[in-house]
Parts: sequence; C-alpha cells; structure tokens
Amino acid sequence: MCGIFGIYNHPEASKMTYLGLYALQHRGQESAGIASSDGKEIIPHVQMGLVADVFNIDNLSKLKGPMAIGHVRYSTAGVSQMKNAQPLVINYARGQISLAHNGNLVNASAWRQKLEKDGSIFQTTSDSEVVLHLIAKANGYPIEKAVHYSLAKLKGAYSLLIMTPDKMMAVRDPWGVRPLCLGKLGNSWIAASESCALDLVDATYVREVEPGEMVVIDKKGMRSVKLFNAKPKPSLCIFEYIYFSRPDSMVFGASVHSVRRELGRHLARESMPNIKQADIVISVPDSANSAAIGFSQASGLPYETGLIRNHYIGRTFIEPSQHIRDFGAKIKYNPVRDLLYGKRVVVVDDSIVRGTTSRKLVKMIRGAGAKEIHMVISAPPITDPCFYGIDTPTKEELIASTHSVDKIREYLGVNTLHYLSLKGLLSSAGSSTDKFCIACFSGKYKI
Ligand code: 5GP
Ligand code: SF4
Ligand code: MG
Repeated sequence: MCGIFGIYNHPEASKMTYLGLYALQHRGQESAGIASSDGKEIIPHVQMGLVADVFNIDNLSKLKGPMAIGHVRYSTAGVSQMKNAQPLVINYARGQISLAHNGNLVNASAWRQKLEKDGSIFQTTSDSEVVLHLIAKANGYPIEKAVHYSLAKLKGAYSLLIMTPDKMMAVRDPWGVRPLCLGKLGNSWIAASESCALDLVDATYVREVEPGEMVVIDKKGMRSVKLFNAKPKPSLCIFEYIYFSRPDSMVFGASVHSVRRELGRHLARESMPNIKQADIVISVPDSANSAAIGFSQASGLPYETGLIRNHYIGRTFIEPSQHIRDFGAKIKYNPVRDLLYGKRVVVVDDSIVRGTTSRKLVKMIRGAGAKEIHMVISAPPITDPCFYGIDTPTKEELIASTHSVDKIREYLGVNTLHYLSLKGLLSSAGSSTDKFCIACFSGKYKI
C-alpha cells in the first residue's frame, strides 16, 4: 500500500504536498518523500519514517517551486529500505524525471531481467523503477509518448504521478485497481490517492482519474489522454472499501463510510439468525467502526466502545525483558472492563488475515469478563494473496486458506464466527456487475 499526492501551480506546493501526505499516512508508514520543481530543477527529500518525523520547516523550505509530488510507502516484506523510498528521481538523456507509484506491477521482474541483460543498472529493488527505465529507452519520443511506450509494456496495478521539471502526469492503470482522484484549488490542480487529502488543503473534489487515462497538467492547462484503446475488465480493489481507505474519502465514486456501514448492515442480516441474542456490539477500532455502526442499526443492538485504541504507538516498541502476555496486541488495544463484564458481546472486525491479532483480542475481551463472544467479519474469508500492491502474506499464512470457518472459530476461542458472504460484499459495494477485483477471496486473478 502507498499513498500519492501531487500539486501543480501553487506558491507553496511542497507544504501542500506535506499536508496531503499527512492525510494519506494510513496508506503507508514506512517512508515519506516529496520532490518539488521550480520549473527547471527537481529537488527531492525522502526518508524512512512518518510524515511528521521526515519533514520540518528547514527541509520543506528547500523544496522550492510551484509543483510537487509526494509519496508514503508501506513496503512488502523484506524490501523496507531507504533506496526503495519514493518519489524516485533520476537523470536521463532528456533531463530529470520523478515518479510516485501506488500499486504493484506483475511483470516488472521479467522486464527488469531483460533490461539488465541489455546493460541497464538499477538503483532500487522496487518494481516502480522499471517504469522509468522504459521511459528512458523511448527517449526519441516526447515525454507523454514515452510514458505511453513504457506503460504499454507493463501489466498490473499502477496509480502514478510522473513529474518532469515543468509537467505533471497522473495515470491510472486500465484495470483501475488503485484509486486516484483529481481536485482543484483556485488555479492549482491536485491529484491524490484519496479525497480526504483534498479536504485537508481546502480543495474541491473534481472527479476520479479514469482507468487507462493519463491526465497531463502543464502551462497549457489540463488535458486528458486516453492511453489504451483496449478496455480490459475493470478490477477495482474492493479491499479499499473494506479496510485500506479512510472512511471520510470518496473512492471509486462512493463514500467509503457509507459502503462500510452497508457491509455491517448486511453482516447483521446474515449473522443474527445464528447469534440469536446478544447485549452489545463493539468494533475493533478504527478500521471496523463504520461496519459496527451499520451492524448496530440493522440488528437493533446498542453500539458501545468496548476497545480503546492507543493512537500514539510507532512501528516498534521496546518490550521489558520480563515477558508481558500478548504484549503486541495489548499495547494497541485495551478492553473497557466495566462495559464488557457479564455481557454477550458481538465483536465486529473488518478482516482476518493470519488470525493472530484476533485471537489475542478475544483473550483480552474474555479476560475483561465477557460472557459470550460472537465475532463477525465484514468481509469474506481471505484465502489468496494479493499481487497488486497489498502486503498480504503467502497463501499458507492466510488462516482461511487452510482452516474451515469452524476451525478458525475454535482457534479464536469465540462462541460463534460469521463472515460476510461474497454476495453481501458485492451488493453492499453497489455492484451486481463485475467491476471489482475480489481475487483475495476467490483466487480468480483478472490480471
Ligand atoms: P489478524 O487477526 O489476522 O492477525 O489481524 C486482523 C486485523 O488486521 C484486523 O483488525 C484488520 O483490520 C487488520 N488488517 C487487515 N488487513 C491488513 C493489512 O493489510 N495491514 C495491516 N496492518 N492490518 C490489516
Ligand atoms: Fe484488492 Fe484483494 Fe484484489 Fe488485492 S486481491 S487488489 S487486496 S481485492
Ligand atoms: Mg483492524
């Protein structure tokens, strides 16, 4: 997962990008970076860490110029390294070019091998660099054509921001896997992964970048270029609705909160006949809050705050040498004992990946005195890994790929366990058609 933000024609472009990345921090916490341009030269500042730690007044004031692109990164396992942090900035025969990428290319390693055989020297281990090498290979072409030449060879998920010293391009892959939207602020154009980044900088939401579209912004204004004639089956990532995006964003043309609340309502209708009776509904904050509200509305059970989440923990914490049971989950969540004691509790969560966190949470809720625990999940069982830019583990590590629902229920230690049906998921997302990717639930990969 990653978040991207770009702005064209603003006197404080890098500061606006910094704010945009702040609003997109949930999409990646590993590294943050901004590249700005004054029309002649691109200057980057990229570091490991959170947006708030990476940027300060000093380094932001060096990022001069009226245009900038930024990136927050959530790397896949093993490649959490400074050299893979973005935006990437390179020099090639035609000057400088900078790139910020959300998604994952499925044929990047094949192209990388081919290019390396021909003598290309790669600076990073990330798939995104292949896009730049292929652009550089097409250096007889003007930049827009060169981008087209590069992307025509690549398959997979890409929402991209590409910046030369005087031009910005926002591109979405023809399948539309990852979101990308356009906003306007006075005479400035903005492109961002999610609309919550537009809200923070007072910009208005204009529309999404369409699948297969390249939006070019330069001194001639903004224009839309259709990159590909063939229109593949759309493959919008339905997990953006379930977990990744912020509920206050508009994604794929719909409000994430509204879709999530609908997931919860469906889930209640499907699971309540099985649960029969309960006293309260609680959510595993924050990702399941909207679904839990929907569950409460459809079931008539009161919604309570049964788990408190600490929002200030970083990625690592120092554990005392004297062992504390379930330390990793405990530092993040604490149950509200007085509320849970003696109750029959419905716990709403958005998804189960490995099942390890959920198991610890259940133990904590039991420890707080809950009489019954009914776990309900606002997504179907995750049985297959994602190859389009999400850090899901291998198939073997996904608990639902090797365990039946009843075995998972046993492992978690809950009275009942209910997952939302695939049908319920699709109809909550407002689609009877085939526009979503659901590969991590079905094993059917469209790309
Ligand atoms: P598990 O019980 O599988 O260990 O963890 C389940 C929790 O992980 C859920 O609360 C869900 O919100 C969260 N989750 C789902 N997908 C992801 C992801 O891609 N990254 C992270 N950090 N958490 C996730
Ligand atoms: Fe999204 Fe799942 Fe498809 Fe990956 S496999 S793009 S997480 S729906
Ligand atoms: Mg969660």
